[in-house]
Order: sequence, then structure tokens, then C-alpha cells
Amino acid sequence: MKAAVLRSVGDENLELTDDVELDAVGPNDVEVRITHTGICHSDVSVMNGTIPQEAPLVLGHEGAGVVTAVGEGVTKVAEGDHVIVGWSPHCGECIYCVNHKRPNLCTTLNFGVMLRKKFLSGGERLGAMVGAGTFAERTLLPEPAVIKIDKDIPLEVASLVSCGVMTGVGAVINTAKVEPGSSVIVFGVGGVGVSAIQGCRLAGASAIVAVDRNPAKLEVAKRFGATMSVLPEEVRDLRKQFNSGEGFDYALECIGNPKTMRAAFSAVRRGGTCCIVGVGGLDEKVEFNAFEFFWMEKTLVGSFFGSCDVRCDFHRVLTLWRAGRLDLEGMIDRRLRLEDVNEGLEAVRAGEVVRQVIEL
Ligand code: NAD
Ligand code: ZN
Repeated sequence: MKAAVLRSVGDENLELTDDVELDAVGPNDVEVRITHTGICHSDVSVMNGTIPQEAPLVLGHEGAGVVTAVGEGVTKVAEGDHVIVGWSPHCGECIYCVNHKRPNLCTTLNFGVMLRKKFLSGGERLGAMVGAGTFAERTLLPEPAVIKIDKDIPLEVASLVSCGVMTGVGAVINTAKVEPGSSVIVFGVGGVGVSAIQGCRLAGASAIVAVDRNPAKLEVAKRFGATMSVLPEEVRDLRKQFNSGEGFDYALECIGNPKTMRAAFSAVRRGGTCCIVGVGGLDEKVEFNAFEFFWMEKTLVGSFFGSCDVRCDFHRVLTLWRAGRLDLEGMIDRRLRLEDVNEGLEAVRAGEVVRQVIEL
């Protein structure tokens, strides 16, 4: 089958090959024919080493498709079901799943079954990005990593929910818990930032300010509910318009850059909340002085996969989409073939797009 393979971390391009084989379906496995996969910035981040994962691997993690086979012990899905891929599956038994009710933070399957090298190409075994590997015609996932959806939902819409949409909406609703009437600043107008902007609108924010260095994105942000949009250099002055000059109630960083993480923290008022959604490198540092935490009493919170529980939150997002409260089709600005994946990745690096979906 066809797949797009990252040969080595640091490579600019993926290798397109049609000789990839997938392991046989084992106990608790679900084989999925990927029909649609979005390109997320995290794909670029695995390529450049910001998100560490050993190559060679089949890239891609934001996908949806149709179940083609199930292994022994699988009960929740069957052949023919339409599913969304969940790249951070819960084991259902660890302290995060049970004691803390935080299934998104479970790493049992991520560091276990998801990391197996399930693809084979030219006699070499290949891994899969965060265990998903959606830039392939078929992949193999543990049962908790697939969520069944209704068949009338277009699979290209469903594919976006798999990462960017769930991450952005979830960061606002589940992690930052934005309150009605509040003022929010969102840094980054990519797939995650646009989803955060839409999440703010759902949460009833009174002001949603979008920030992006690409001027073309400022108009895009308004289409999805931003009440204002500005370039990064305008943030410092704009902040003075909120809360009598004190700043925003909430900030969401959806870029992954230490400078904008710091700018997001600075943009919120005393007692406000700064939520970091973007993923920066292990060696990149964000500076805080040792006084400001006491004096400003701000909350600084990370958000992993929108603090979601895929079992209910994927459906919550799709219910909002059905009700016309979330615009998911409008986020797709390009549809590509797998052969065009390198062009797509380049457009992400350039910050040109909200989401591109590969049709397999
Ligand atoms: P994207 O590349 O589509 O969008 C990023 C946007 O930020 C672009 O519009 C770009 O123009 C803008 N930008 C880049 N640098 C900037 C700067 N210095 N100042 C202002 N604007 C800038 O990315 P995405 O797919 O939306 O992902 C955003 C971030 O979220 C990435 O870091 C990604 O890895 C991360 N992410 C996190 C999670 C999570 O669970 N926390 C999940 C998915 C993605
Ligand atoms: Zn992603």
C-alpha cells in the first residue's frame, strides 16, 4: 500500500512509497482504512525533531476512516464502522484513567502498543507517528484509539476532530474553562488556533482577539469568530483596552514558540489564565521572574489534546458541528492527494493554511 515515510529526523521531505505492508491484525487490534488525514503542525514538529520520535516512521496522526478488520477481543467496533483516530488512547486502568479521571494523560498505550513498528517496507520495520501513522492507506490501532461515529458524518470533517479541532476547542472549554463574557487573546491562526477561536465563541467570550504574523490570517480569524485580529507587535498596546488596562482574562498560545508563550502570559491580567497549547522544543526556554507569580497570581496551564476524553468529547464536538455551532468544513482550505504531502507540509511551515486534508 501507499504511505508517506519519514526516513530520518531532520529530513525536509517525506518519502512516498507504495511497497508498505501492515502487520496482521492481532488481539485487541483494529485495522482502519484511512480515508482522510489532516496535516497538523505536529507532523512538521516530528520531522524537525521538536517532538521527539525515532524514525523511520509513517507520519500522520489526524485521521478518520473505515474499519476493515478487528482482532480477537474487540467489542466496540466492527468491520464497516466509521471511526476517528484518537492519538492518545486511554488504557482504562492506570492512575490517570481511574484515580484522576484524566484519560488524555494516560501513556500506557502510547508507550506500549502504539509504539510497535507495525509497518514493513523494503525489509525494514517502520514505526508510526504517536502510534497512529495516518499517512498510509491502512493502519493498525488498539481499540481505545478508535472512536465510532455516525455514517452520515463526512469523514473529511471527522478527520479534523481527530487532533486540531479537539485540541483547540478542548483547550478553551476543558482546560482554560473560559467563562461567558470574558476577554480572550489567541496566538496563532492555524487549525488549532481557529478551533480555539471557535471554542471561545461557544464559551460566550465577549472579546476574542486573534494574533498571527501572517497578515492574511487576520481576516481568516474573523471568519471564525474573532472580534479583532492583530499582528504580534500590536498586542502590547491592545492589551490596554481590556479590563481597565490590566489585560485579557485568558490567553491561549497555539503556536509553540517560547516568545509567543511569554507574550501570552504577559497579555493576561492579574488573576488571569494563560493556557499553552503549542508545542515547543525540549531545549527551548520560557523566562519568568521569580516575583511575578506571587504578584500577578496568574494561572499558567498546559493543555494536552484539549484535556479531552475522546469517548464523549469527539461526539460533543460533532454535535456542535451538526447544530451549526462549529464550522469544520470552512477550516479545510486545501484537499490534497498523498503524492502532494510534501507541498502540504511546506504550506504548514509557511503558516499559509488553516487545515489541509489528504484524501487517500
Ligand atoms: P499551524 O502551523 O497551522 O498554525 C500556526 C500559526 O501560527 C500560523 O498561522 C502561523 O502564521 C502563526 N505563527 C507562527 N509563528 C508565529 C509567531 N512567531 N508569531 C505570530 N504568529 C505565528 O499550526 P497548528 O497545526 O494550528 O498547531 C499549532 C501548535 O499546536 C503547534 O505547536 C502544534 O504542534 C500544537 N499542537 C498541540 C497539541 C496539544 O495537544 N497541545 C495538539 C496538536 C497540535
Ligand atoms: Zn496534531
